[in-house]
Formats: sequence, structure tokens, C-alpha cells
Amino acid sequence: MVKIVEAPAGIEGQGFFATSFDKVIGMARANSLWPLPFATSCCGIEFMATMGANYDLARFGSERMSFSPRQSDLLIVAGTISKKLGPVLKQVYDQMAEPKWVLSVGACASSGGIFDTYSVLQGIDHVIPVDVYVPGCPPRPEQIIEGILKIQELARNESLRRRDSPEYRKMLESYNIQ
Ligand code: SF4
Repeated sequence: MVKIVEAPAGIEGQGFFATSFDKVIGMARANSLWPLPFATSCCGIEFMATMGANYDLARFGSERMSFSPRQSDLLIVAGTISKKLGPVLKQVYDQMAEPKWVLSVGACASSGGIFDTYSVLQGIDHVIPVDVYVPGCPPRPEQIIEGILKIQELARNESLRRRDSPEYRKMLESYNIQ
């Protein structure tokens, strides 16, 4: 069954509907997120289940997985990230075009999880900014979907000027990202 998304708030009359530009852009972005799965271990398997027929992420407009950073706007990091892999993750993030969002799936990606060791990054937010964290070891597909819905909410309501704001620039600079 095809589900038509709700129109954004606006003014409606006979034969016309008017709304603001950022609401239309937000609606389009939120319903056409193109994820790049950066999956390294068990959480990646849960993500595969989320993509499968039972949970079917395609329902949210996100069926188009991209393994090219330049063609995706949602970075999904699922699994243990070693310190050695940190710069690679950052490079992938760098190559994605704005606007982009990051979903951290599971305890390992979010905090290092049970691997409090010399070799594991204690959370990907040490190298890139994260928009939504999904808890769990591993999180169930329902939780991953909940995370995607939260990202959709952010994308839908984001001001078109946010990425040019001094606060956003400052945040990127704190990660040494131009
Ligand atoms: S959070 Fe748990 S399930 Fe996910 S990658 Fe780490 S150890 Fe595996």
C-alpha cells in the first residue's frame, strides 16, 4: 500500500495550497533520505534485518542504500569502530554533501560499548558530529527505525539557514572540519 505523506502546515483554499519554501524542502528531504551504511560488526547485521522484508526501511523512503558518500545524506554507523578506523570514518563524513545527518547505531558506535580498550574509539562523536544515538547491544530493528524517524523529524524541521549559521560552523570547527 502506498502511503502519501502528510502535507506541511499551510493555507488552503479552493484550488490552491500555499506553504513556505523550507517546509516543502524539509518534507522532501525527510522522505528521501539516502543512507550510507558504515557497518563493521554485529549491529550491522541488525541493520541488514532492518532493510529486509519484515521491517522494510523502504517504507520511509530510505530504500536506496549508497556506498558512495557523495550520493548519500544519512551516515548510519553500526558497529565497533577502532581508533585506526576513526580517520576513515571522518573522511567518509567529509565527502558527504551538506545537508547530512549521522545516526549512531548501538552501544559500540555511541560509546565504545563493552570494549573499553586501547584500540576502540569510545564513541564516534570523538571524530564526527552525531545527530541521533540509538541505544542497545544490539538495538532491535524497531529501535533503528525509531532512530531513522528521529532523523526524519530533524530533517523535516531544520531551517534552511542552519548550515550557514555561526553555531553550526563553530561546531564543525570543533571537529576540525571545514
Ligand atoms: S553494540 Fe553490541 S551488538 Fe552492536 S556492534 Fe557492539 S557488541 Fe556488537
